[in-house]
Amino acid sequence: MSELLLHSSSDHHSDIDHFGDMHLSSGSDTPLHPDAFALNDDEKVERISHHFAKIMDLLGLDLSDDSLRGTPRRVAKMYVNEIFRGLNPAHKPVVTTFDNKYQYRKLVIERNIPLQSTCEHHFQPIFGVAHVAYIPNGRVVGLSKLNRIVDFFARRPQVQERLTMQIAEELQRVLGTDDVAVYIDAKHMCVQARGIEHHGASTITAEYAGKFLNDNTKREFLHAIGMPMPA
Ligand SMILES: [Zn+2]
Repeated sequence: MSELLLHSSSDHHSDIDHFGDMHLSSGSDTPLHPDAFALNDDEKVERISHHFAKIMDLLGLDLSDDSLRGTPRRVAKMYVNEIFRGLNPAHKPVVTTFDNKYQYRKLVIERNIPLQSTCEHHFQPIFGVAHVAYIPNGRVVGLSKLNRIVDFFARRPQVQERLTMQIAEELQRVLGTDDVAVYIDAKHMCVQARGIEHHGASTITAEYAGKFLNDNTKREFLHAIGMPMPA
């Protein structure tokens, strides 16, 4: 594929006390073990709930308290059914494409897609926006499917670089074209609320492939999302 740009307004990436702050990605597949789906979702909720209760107990929390009693199960359900739902390929959005009847061959840009993900190094939220674009080949998609693809890959423990690549690769696959761009601008709670505690720092990642490697096309995309072309 193509270049991957990353710049951050903080010194997030020079803060290398430990691997967790480096946020390096290793290949575009989320690392899963071979038995990742041996348990069904209900069984996972049961087990995670059990283990999360242990964590709370070790922290000294009284699980018989009314307010805390339901937390292990709430967290387990949130992990399996919501914020990590995109680990399971069964939940991948089914994207139907249509004939590009009007022979539209210019950019299609879906911008300001709300992005919510989770940092895999700290299990802390990542939130921001994604902008995606493609140039139709023979096929076009319903626009909301672009949002759904972003959402599916965001709902995993992630590093932003890998998330960007996974979205780009899936767009290329479903649209049958190399010509895609993905731009993500997101804030990481692991940078804001712990560690260096830099509020307001955000991380930008971008993937340009096919015709988006061409300066004019890239410029048109960046202009549309309100970003200047890098010098
Ligand atoms: Zn992190």
